[in-house]
Amino acid sequence: MNLYSIETGNFKLDGGAMFGVVPKSLWEKTNPPDELNRIKMSARSLLIEDENKLILIDTGLGNKQSEKFFSHFSLWGDFSLEKSLAHYGFSKDDITDVFLTHLHFDHCGGAIEKDSNGKLSLAFKNAKYWSNHDHWNCAKNPNEREKASFLSENILPIEKSGKLQLLDSPKDSIFKNSPLKFDILFVDGHTEKQMLPVIKYKNETIVFAGDLIPTVGHLPIPYIMSYDTKPLISLEEKASFLDLAEKNNYLLFMEHDPNNELISLKKTEKGVRLDDSFTLKTYF
Ligand SMILES: [Zn+2]
Repeated sequence: MNLYSIETGNFKLDGGAMFGVVPKSLWEKTNPPDELNRIKMSARSLLIEDENKLILIDTGLGNKQSEKFFSHFSLWGDFSLEKSLAHYGFSKDDITDVFLTHLHFDHCGGAIEKDSNGKLSLAFKNAKYWSNHDHWNCAKNPNEREKASFLSENILPIEKSGKLQLLDSPKDSIFKNSPLKFDILFVDGHTEKQMLPVIKYKNETIVFAGDLIPTVGHLPIPYIMSYDTKPLISLEEKASFLDLAEKNNYLLFMEHDPNNELISLKKTEKGVRLDDSFTLKTYF
């Protein structure tokens, strides 16, 4: 198995919204805001190459939304999904599976393309697309609070294509022996049944941290995004996950932290915190 970090393009989000009830005087130390109070975010996907499979975990924001839409998210930097795949000698047509942790636009926007006539189509035309029944239903019938994150143009074309594969959610929070090449941790605090890959790789366990722990600044348990639909569930899920991760020396692959790609954890008096920061390339 080989893993590749795929930067799809950076953006920014309101720092207050990203840290919920935590005062700015605390979060600005790890995530310094710009003059409009926005903090830097990456949209870092993970590519898993294993025998005849090439699995992409999340797709970033894509580029089909309007200029007005993107102006709210201040795109920055020079990354693109296509360039990052090409860097490792791959193209979008090589992808066999697109695994979507959840269907918020910054995770699945790149799954769908729009041509000059406005026609929507799958960006990875040879791939299966993976989600789960509960999350799919929640995304298709969104609550008022999450509505702005679930865009129908990211969701309905996947269903129409016939390429959608929906998993059942397991009884335990970790789904072992999934049809993919990794176990899956299911969490509910951010959104209904977010799925986080738990990958065994070269004697290590790497967890794709997704929106459970978006940046290193979110390691303290109560540092929870206002975007989370059930913050008290997030609180419990983070506490038990970080405890498990620290005890078992898991590495976390960070989707949204522009400065930290892969991190290790340590136990401190204050709780589980950053131990060291790596990239896949420097660690393995
Ligand atoms: Zn999200």
